[in-house]
Amino acid sequence: MNNATRKLGRFSIREVVFGSFRLDGGCMFGSVPKNLWSRSIPADEENCIPLVCRSLLIEDSSRKILLDVGCGDKWNDKSRAIYRIQNTPVESLGFRPDEITDVILTHLHFDHAGGISYRGANGALMLTYPNATIHLQTANWEHARNPTPKDKASYLPENIDPLVGARLQLCNGTAEIIPGIIAHRVDGHTRGQQWIEIFQDGKSIFFPTDLIPTSHHVPLAYHMGYDVCAETLLNEKLSFLQSAIKPGVEVCFQHDRDVAWATITRGEKGNFVAHPRTL
Ligand SMILES: [Zn+2]
Repeated sequence: MNNATRKLGRFSIREVVFGSFRLDGGCMFGSVPKNLWSRSIPADEENCIPLVCRSLLIEDSSRKILLDVGCGDKWNDKSRAIYRIQNTPVESLGFRPDEITDVILTHLHFDHAGGISYRGANGALMLTYPNATIHLQTANWEHARNPTPKDKASYLPENIDPLVGARLQLCNGTAEIIPGIIAHRVDGHTRGQQWIEIFQDGKSIFFPTDLIPTSHHVPLAYHMGYDVCAETLLNEKLSFLQSAIKPGVEVCFQHDRDVAWATITRGEKGNFVAHPRTL
């Protein structure tokens, strides 16, 4: 994890990595043949690729905001082994959970929202960030409680039920949910996902979340088998990338173990190319 802080207007922004896990490489690259994707990210002995749960901590004088909260620690041994989940305790991430004023959940898949709750001493589900307003799209809140068979395995009741008693701020479509922070609704990966744009003084950070989970997914045709609608996703991704190539935009990849930040350009053939950046 890079502990460096980026300044963007009134915001201080730093990476927070909640841990690592793995998913099947074929599922992560959909219809892209393994002999293509495995050149850029090799698979392990069970055909899985390593991933991380990267968040951003965004601070100004009055707020501490998290973008997603990782897989959390409510896992049984079997699931923990399948996904090789390594959870980093919140206490070691450099902030106190009760300081967090806002959590923006891009969607409620387990690798994004699992850390929103934990099991207390008596096994009861407790909110990890007791003082936080939780921002989510209405469409995702409704879909997560009644998912399709396609993404049912990613919406776990133990990550969703505790939100009934939380301070939920539901959003309907694309909107500036906090001054300087826009949530863009997209539906190709799952219904009511939101990718996040932080903008100040003519510069922006784009957090595409599962619209483009790693730098290896920047080529337009590289998308996940998990996506509920490939055609919708490709249209949304093209629109995202056309905005991302503008001057002053940096992209932060949520699940890329090795490349957190990049700028995007367009190649001679019209293809999109990620250029890794460090501070
Ligand atoms: Zn997802």
